[in-house]
Amino acid sequence: SKKLKVSPTFEAMNLKDDLLRGIYSYGFEAPSSIQSRAITQIISGKDIIAQAQSGTGKTATFTIGMLQVIELKRKDLQALVLSPTRELASQSCQVISNLGDYMNVKTFAVTGGKALKDDLKKMQNGGCHVVSGTPGRVLDLIKRQAVQTRNVQMLILDEADELLSETLGFKQQIYDIFSKLPPTCQVIVVSATMNRDILEVTKKFMNDPVKILVKRDEISLEGIAQYYVDVSKEDWKFDTLCDLYDSLTITQCVIFCNTRKKVDWLSKKLSQSNFAVVSMHGDMKQEERDKVMNDFRTGHSRVLISTDVWARGIDVQQISLVVNYDMPEIMENYIHRIGRSGRFGRKGIAINFITKEDEPKLKSTEKFYRIKIKPMPANLS
Ligand code: ADP
Ligand code: MG
Repeated sequence: SKKLKVSPTFEAMNLKDDLLRGIYSYGFEAPSSIQSRAITQIISGKDIIAQAQSGTGKTATFTIGMLQVIELKRKDLQALVLSPTRELASQSCQVISNLGDYMNVKTFAVTGGKALKDDLKKMQNGGCHVVSGTPGRVLDLIKRQAVQTRNVQMLILDEADELLSETLGFKQQIYDIFSKLPPTCQVIVVSATMNRDILEVTKKFMNDPVKILVKRDEISLEGIAQYYVDVSKEDWKFDTLCDLYDSLTITQCVIFCNTRKKVDWLSKKLSQSNFAVVSMHGDMKQEERDKVMNDFRTGHSRVLISTDVWARGIDVQQISLVVNYDMPEIMENYIHRIGRSGRFGRKGIAINFITKEDEPKLKSTEKFYRIKIKPMPANLS
């Protein structure tokens, strides 16, 4: 394969002045590895498959590439970002808006769980350059002709392997959205995990893409120490967690369970034992989800219990600890879950609760990522 050009600085990317200003005032000094390699490829107009470890700045990668390309004088929709969860779509919208602050980029988040009429109204007012949304709502708005796809020249699929997976219902929606875009539309797919099936699927709607891939044994982040606690059986998990509580609250922590019911059960049980926790899952009303996100992002709550709705993409820099109360059912989600900590080179700790039945899962996780998950030491810090 051809060697990709690497830009060691943001200046070397020949970005617009007001974009460069946005990047620096956002606090970035130098590009990460994926940013050095992928941004100029995006600007060149090529389709691109960009894989990079969690927390290494993939959002800014597609955002900077996109902001360089779109024309701000124009008042039409030019780029579309799709994400698998509402919170992630909103987060990306915020990043686009922040990095594009000096360019006066206009961007909207459109997601399920919010009033459709509000989305219809804000799109009607026009002038939106970039839409960041969840597939169902975006497709709905396209069908209602509230989102005009005529001039969309860039489609970004964040967490692409999740969006295109067979198990979640997004794949057909993505195809339907894609069918409404101009045939010349550039496609950018992004994730920390890519498997062969996904690469095969992308062939259907990508044109000779540039591929930036990471080997499986390089996905795992060195900054995240990974441990297991032998809890022997399910009943012992709760006491183990209570014993850990003081360590959980040092900064911020996310505890993952595999079902919504279990999240409810655990948060109730912890609250009854006077531990301060919040929880979030897909059965909750969006207003509640928003409140929990806001309290957690601002540090008002420190311990969050959630399902895999929180596994991907969410960026809260203060999270230093992730607990797998249940081991994830999907192998990919192990790396996404623990990647909620250790953002952009920070240190993190992941603790896995392992029952007798989980032991094969622990082994296969170690094998899959070629990592060693050690017994948790008596003193965590
Ligand atoms: P990913 O999507 O790869 O998991 P994100 O795009 O969410 O990662 O970025 C992770 C964190 O790193 C964010 O808080 C972001 O602001 C920060 N970040 C990204 N790029 C840079 C950079 N060049 N310099 C400093 N911080 C950065
Ligand atoms: Mg991301």
